Amino acid sequence: MLRFQRTIKKEILFNGIGLHTGKQVMMILKPAPMDTGIVLVRTDLGCAEINAAAANTAATSYSTTLSRDGVSVQTVEHLLAAFGGLGIDNVRVEIDSEEVPIMDGSAGPFVRSLADAGIQTQENIQPVVKILKPVFVREGNKQIAIWPSEKPSISYFIDFNHPMLREQSLHAPCSEDGFLREIADARTFGFLSDADVLRANGLAKGVSMDNAVVLGEETVLNKEGLRYTDEFVRHKILDLIGDLSLTGMPIIGHIVAHKSGHGLNAQMVSKLLNSPQNWIVLGSPEGEKEPAREVQYQHHAAIS
Ligand SMILES: [Zn+2]
Repeated sequence: MLRFQRTIKKEILFNGIGLHTGKQVMMILKPAPMDTGIVLVRTDLGCAEINAAAANTAATSYSTTLSRDGVSVQTVEHLLAAFGGLGIDNVRVEIDSEEVPIMDGSAGPFVRSLADAGIQTQENIQPVVKILKPVFVREGNKQIAIWPSEKPSISYFIDFNHPMLREQSLHAPCSEDGFLREIADARTFGFLSDADVLRANGLAKGVSMDNAVVLGEETVLNKEGLRYTDEFVRHKILDLIGDLSLTGMPIIGHIVAHKSGHGLNAQMVSKLLNSPQNWIVLGSPEGEKEPAREVQYQHHAAIS
């Protein structure tokens, strides 16, 4: 169950646009020392640093935003999912804008570049959170539960009011191979009918069919169609992996989610960290211990 911490062997450069800002952005991933975690660095703002941690979760409408001392980076979830899915713990993410580039709307371009750069094993053990008693959050008809399990896995169920989105479910074991094969290439999706409202609210300025699955009244409008028949539930799992990585440690448990979005995912991280009686940390140098308490999380409306 336990493994050594990992970083990347060399720098990786990405150029792309922000999904919501539409701005061009350059992002460089750099190897980082043990026990650093994932650190976002705004090179356009005096190299201000934001740790990818629950306490820095600032907004969760349409994407997950991390913020510290008034400096933010939004749409971090697919990049964090790539790190979480491949078991990469320590990376310095230098970025010259306020949004992670969307690439093709999935985590595929990130994971392939990370795999090409090579993964460097480090000397310290990566601690994990092992669930002992179920942790549960609910908001309306959306729920997430994490149950004790020796092997980490995710079960996800969606049922939205659209012909393409009715009753999709998937059980995905949390393994690097499984993530690469089953989850990483699933793209973000949205409804054409929402486009005007999103743009009127300053969102989705960079959205195109090159970086999102666009749904019309009945069908997918992208010419190339879907990458998986159930690409939507797979993308929801991808988002969940990215958002739950803000716990700061891999979770050993069975995660069961129904229609959750970034807001509820963030609530689960907060609930988990504030329920230390429900888990133990394995692999910590000080032995079993509790992670940081008193998580300050500003909850915003949850819209997937
Ligand atoms: Zn997403």
